[in-house]
Amino acid sequence: MLINTKDLDSYTPMMQQYLKLKAQYPDALLFYRMGDFYELFYDDAKKASQLMDISLTKRGTIAGEPIPMAGIPYHAVDNYLAKLVALGESIAICEQIDSNLVTKGPVERRVVRIVTPGTLSDESLLNERQDNLLAAIWQAPQGFGYATLDITSGRFLISEQIDREVMAAELQRTNPAELLYPENFQDIALIEHRRGIRRRPLWDFELETARQQLTMQFGTHDLTGFGIDQAELALCAAGCLLQYTKNTQCTSFLPHINTISLENKQEIILMDATTRRNLEITHNFSGGSKNTLVDVIDKTVTPMGSRMLKRWLHMPIRNLTTVSFRQKIIHIINDEISSLQPLLRQIGDLERILARLALRSARPRDLSRMRFAFAQIPSIKNLLQRKKDTNLNQLLNRIGDFEKLFDLLSQAIIESPPVLIRDGGVIAPGYNTELDEWRSIATGATDYLTNLELSEREKTGIETLKVGFNTVHGYFIQLSRNQSHLVPSNYVRRQTLKNSERYIIPELKKFENKVLIAKSKALALEKALYDKLFDLLLPHLATMQQSAEALAELDVLCNLAERAETLNYICPTFDSKTGIYINGGRHPVVECILKEPFIANSLMLSDEQRMLIITGPNMGGKSTYMRQNALIVLLAYIGSFVPAECAIIGPIDKIFTRIGAADDLASGRSTFMVEMTETANILHNATHHSLVLIDEIGRGTSTYDGLALAWACAENLASCIKSLTFFATHYFELTILPDQIKSVVNVHLDAIEYGDKIAFMHNVQNGAANKSYGISVAELAGVPREIIKRARQKLQELEIITQEKTINSIEKLPMSLLQPENSTLVKKLKDLNLDSISPLQALKVLYQLKQML
Ligand code: ADP
Repeated sequence: MLINTKDLDSYTPMMQQYLKLKAQYPDALLFYRMGDFYELFYDDAKKASQLMDISLTKRGTIAGEPIPMAGIPYHAVDNYLAKLVALGESIAICEQIDSNLVTKGPVERRVVRIVTPGTLSDESLLNERQDNLLAAIWQAPQGFGYATLDITSGRFLISEQIDREVMAAELQRTNPAELLYPENFQDIALIEHRRGIRRRPLWDFELETARQQLTMQFGTHDLTGFGIDQAELALCAAGCLLQYTKNTQCTSFLPHINTISLENKQEIILMDATTRRNLEITHNFSGGSKNTLVDVIDKTVTPMGSRMLKRWLHMPIRNLTTVSFRQKIIHIINDEISSLQPLLRQIGDLERILARLALRSARPRDLSRMRFAFAQIPSIKNLLQRKKDTNLNQLLNRIGDFEKLFDLLSQAIIESPPVLIRDGGVIAPGYNTELDEWRSIATGATDYLTNLELSEREKTGIETLKVGFNTVHGYFIQLSRNQSHLVPSNYVRRQTLKNSERYIIPELKKFENKVLIAKSKALALEKALYDKLFDLLLPHLATMQQSAEALAELDVLCNLAERAETLNYICPTFDSKTGIYINGGRHPVVECILKEPFIANSLMLSDEQRMLIITGPNMGGKSTYMRQNALIVLLAYIGSFVPAECAIIGPIDKIFTRIGAADDLASGRSTFMVEMTETANILHNATHHSLVLIDEIGRGTSTYDGLALAWACAENLASCIKSLTFFATHYFELTILPDQIKSVVNVHLDAIEYGDKIAFMHNVQNGAANKSYGISVAELAGVPREIIKRARQKLQELEIITQEKTINSIEKLPMSLLQPENSTLVKKLKDLNLDSISPLQALKVLYQLKQML
């Protein structure tokens, strides 16, 4: 919509007001309050009518052109806001400001807040078990600066990334609801597919402004105390983010944001975007949460606990002091789960209530829930202090005592307050004498009315005379119609009903005015008292925030204790030596969804045995085995117990996965390209402390290309990078790698065929598989019988050809090869019974010979 300000005079005063306001918020939908409706005009109206499925109407015309308009009732605004922010839209809420001054022109209006996807704090607009983050990204030649803010907890974090892949992983891990980027941002491909991206002017990212903004927010002289002085890229992002947040909240100060931390990548186990997806930690492949790790592991009883657990799962930590602290608490609270969880449940979402308190948008029920939460704290402390455990006490010490605030809230707020302060009825009787007096005039005047009724009956002699009230006409005296001829002359008719007449008398009118004044006085006073209550609570904000965090942590640990007990998990131990030893390990999710019993499998990886080449039929359980080990490591490093009989885990710095790729159509990359990009990332970034899962590599190209690539990758991972690697493959040729590299071993998953049927054993055994069962699996999948028959025939032909080729090659071997330095091969050849050589053995020998010739 382009409106020339010169033309403004041709608009009605109200439309002029609208256009001036709209000009300040060009990127947001402006909800313009008119009585009981929020109205949208012009392009906003057209967009909103489409997005919210509401009808598009007109309001007047300008220069002969109708003005498009769409409206929504104010009481239903939350539903519409929820819908719009879910679609990534921002909304500027413009209210009518009460003004007693009688002025000409439209009533005064002001934008009171801007609702944006990343700065939500309203309970009705948020998913309670999910973090909702606002983020800002800055790019410079040396790398990226990144800042995130959870406005509902005040958690303000920054980080710097040199590498694009790591930045992509960070974006995927934090998954912000809204992302601010500078107008000169180079790598648009990195962010363009994300929801809620917002282009911001360059000056919003200025370093000096950022420093000023941040020191002002934290009330400090400089940023040294936060250890972030040098993180200039991140500071640029943080500055923009803070400014944007203040604008949306229409405030210059956000009391609950009182610290900022630089995330240290050395302290966490890094996982890239692909790995998070492949391990199905919080989301499954279709984007839902069913059958994910969280689905099994998250039975926390508070929403803030659930959010914290998800953050932990996405950020396993390498600091073993913290991990062991968590393990010890899980042990110690194990026998109090059933008493502790019901108490914690009553704490509710204290974290988000506190954010609304800080933003002064807390509703009456937030305060009553806060009071209820405070009431539980003594019982929780009593229950756990009995344990006399130092670790547990350390956690409990972070939870404050809020007896005084509890008393204050009990005196101030009624037992079950209404949703909004708007109509009053929130402040409890006895809290403020003046309020009580106004209220008694407003409501407690029944005595006066009863007396008036009696005296008027007496005066008039009309027995049926009654004094009444309704919201439209106010107070009245009512009598039946057939007695209306008896009314005295001071009775003025107010309303005529079917069988009765209603009157007003000067005395009653006077009383009515007094009541109305009392009502509005009471309401105004109540609102002021409610506001004052915020002032009384806010000095305790930091203590309350710290307590909420500790309570959330207690919820997570209690949940992990409960899960360990219910799902039969054990406490893993950590070792400073490289390796992973797991006895009787299980897949935490697969074991819960299977109808049949899950077959536990063990694992041994060490300095001497760093890579497992895993073969076996499709459906044999290769992926499950690899992932279960990665998930056990991940769970161990968040402090959780794990699904195994015994687990000893060495240092891990990163987890990588490359598992069955799908075409990434959105970015126009083929399966093979995706697969190779992921592989390249692993080869560049894995270290000898990384855990690497590779499930099939090189399948998207010709057999020899694929095999050659798989071979080279495996060789590099085993002998150069020396990471702890699972390498599942269909290339049987790879199973000779252990002959060449000492730290590589073969394991396989087996199946047995009986008749036409095939049964998978799902247990991991030493050595390579000797059969692939591909045709049987195809049969199981319903490939037509005649095709299966033909495939079996063809397989036999191919096998015979390979056997013959092998025998031929061996017979033609030059003598030079049969020398002692080739002793392994020589021994193998000697052991071969050429008459009964299996097709797979033949294939392996043939491949080995080809390599040597
Ligand atoms: P692969 O990767 O070899 O094709 P998967 O790991 O995908 O095989 O496993 C296929 C199916 O086999 C799984 O969905 C699961 O139902 C079952 N399965 C795998 N491992 C086990 C196990 N250890 N115990 C019981 N069932 C298993």
